[in-house]
Amino acid sequence: MCRHLGWLGREVSVSSLVLEPAYGLRTQSYAPRRQKYALLNADGWGVGFFDGAIPRRWRSAAPLWGDASFASVAPALRSHCVVAAVRSATVGMPIEVGATAPFTDGHWLLSHNGIVDRHVLPATSSAESVCDSAVLADLIFARGLDELGAVVVEIGNADPHARLNILAANGSRMLATTWGDTLSVLHRDDGIVLASEPYDDDADWDEVPDRHLVEVTPDGITMTVLKGP
Ligand code: GLN
Repeated sequence: MCRHLGWLGREVSVSSLVLEPAYGLRTQSYAPRRQKYALLNADGWGVGFFDGAIPRRWRSAAPLWGDASFASVAPALRSHCVVAAVRSATVGMPIEVGATAPFTDGHWLLSHNGIVDRHVLPATSSAESVCDSAVLADLIFARGLDELGAVVVEIGNADPHARLNILAANGSRMLATTWGDTLSVLHRDDGIVLASEPYDDDADWDEVPDRHLVEVTPDGITMTVLKGP
């Protein structure tokens, strides 16, 4: 399954979050440390960041470790809010840029780490790809991010095998769910990181328990349990 990372805080370089840390997304693209459902994440990558209120994305269907152009430019890309991911495509899903997180509705950037049976999702013609994550993102955007916890519980109940770790941000809020896979949080002096797995060995990383909704705002973090019926 994929690995994702979100940042909300002071303006920092994309490179400092994604490429420079010893076990950051670049390393996780070929040697993740906590990934249970795949060996590596070679099927693409995406970096989304807010430029003021505008979400901008750079995505590719090739492995992150080999992208010298991105590595050259990433130190100059700076933002206070970032959503990035490396992808391990679920068997049967297309390997294409449109299937690669982060997805956007023009306000939010969203990544899905997991798997869901598309039969439990409403049919859509506006998703970027037929990939399960793209269709799920389309549903979450249609329902609105205030409904994120409710949608995850609903879909999780409709498909008991689903894994639904979502990460989303809109420039002033960052939301994440744990439903079947790992997520860690790091409070830094200059902001908060949410990541599928720690990008270094800092003792301050905390694991988020499964089946939780995390909300990060400039005022701090809140966590709520996601309850089934
Ligand atoms: N199911 C999604 C895909 O195929 C996400 C996979 C993942 O989390 N690795 O891209």
